[in-house]
Amino acid sequence: MSEKVMKFTEVKNFTQDLIDWQKKLGRHDLPWQKNRTAYRVWLSEIMLQQTQVSTVLNRYDEFLKIFPSIQCLASATVDEVLAQWSGMGYYTRARNLHRCAQIVMTKYDGVFPSDPKTLKSLPGIGRSTAAAIAVFSYGKRAAILDGNVKRVLARIWGFDQDLSKALHANQLWTHAESLLPHKKSDLIAYTQGLMDFGATHCTQYQPACIDPQNGSCPFKKSCLAHLTERVNQIPLKVKKVKVEKIDMTWWVMIHEDQVLLEKRPQKGIWAGLWCFPESQERPKEPCQTMTAFKHVLTHRQMTIKPIKAHLKKRGFIKENQQWFSLDDLDGLGLPKPMSLFLRNLNLIRDDE
Ligand code: SF4
Repeated sequence: MSEKVMKFTEVKNFTQDLIDWQKKLGRHDLPWQKNRTAYRVWLSEIMLQQTQVSTVLNRYDEFLKIFPSIQCLASATVDEVLAQWSGMGYYTRARNLHRCAQIVMTKYDGVFPSDPKTLKSLPGIGRSTAAAIAVFSYGKRAAILDGNVKRVLARIWGFDQDLSKALHANQLWTHAESLLPHKKSDLIAYTQGLMDFGATHCTQYQPACIDPQNGSCPFKKSCLAHLTERVNQIPLKVKKVKVEKIDMTWWVMIHEDQVLLEKRPQKGIWAGLWCFPESQERPKEPCQTMTAFKHVLTHRQMTIKPIKAHLKKRGFIKENQQWFSLDDLDGLGLPKPMSLFLRNLNLIRDDE
């Protein structure tokens, strides 16, 4: 595709119509919309980056109960933070959350900076997240452009270029900035409106103009993707990322009522989380090959083959390994398939 520079035609009243739409039909009762401190906003933005709202709704208050302030989060161990993040996936977010809290404490006296550029320099905070924090917590004039917002703007303005290229992404950023309302008092409703409209109305597969169950669209008469019947083609889908197939063995070593776990390296899949050892000297006791199962991540399809053995006595363990009772696992950072597997693990020997 040619790298043409798209022109953005005027869509009359877009900004004001979106503000009006948000006030009437947008979301107003999400927990992070109440008592909007930078800490609460930041936490919600990071959680929402790759996790659905319904899941975040179940975890947000719980996380805040354990870490009610940035001080609490910064003084916790990374293991404690990972444990609270268990099951939400993309654990780099949890590690960045912890590092970011520590930097805000040491470099900014525990107060998040309000300037979007400074916010963007912190771990785990990209340009759009920085803008959202600056708008919602400090009323700053900054544009967001997350995946949902890209879709909304690209469709309405018929922007059919490859957004994975910096040239085109920058064009859309400039356009997003030009749409910001001039009145400071409108910034929150406008930014929230973009998020809400993309998440609930102009959705990826069932936008309101195709599926009336998703409400009606106030931009139907001006939306270029709709008018040119290209809703399903915009934004342009870039080549699918190749899915890597991985075979993994879990050595499920059991001694009395405890299991042997190993802390994974700080890089790679499930970095820093606790898992069964993947390589282990085969024990003398009989080993039982359990039913293999699949676990799918965005770019990886894993086939996990657990092998179980009941040890008569504990042998030498590596520095990153530890024995745990099943009751002691609550405070540990565990990948989701581990938590599910452990929930169903029977520690009694089959022949007992
Ligand atoms: S007309 Fe359809 S594609 Fe265009 S903004 Fe509305 S819901 Fe989205």
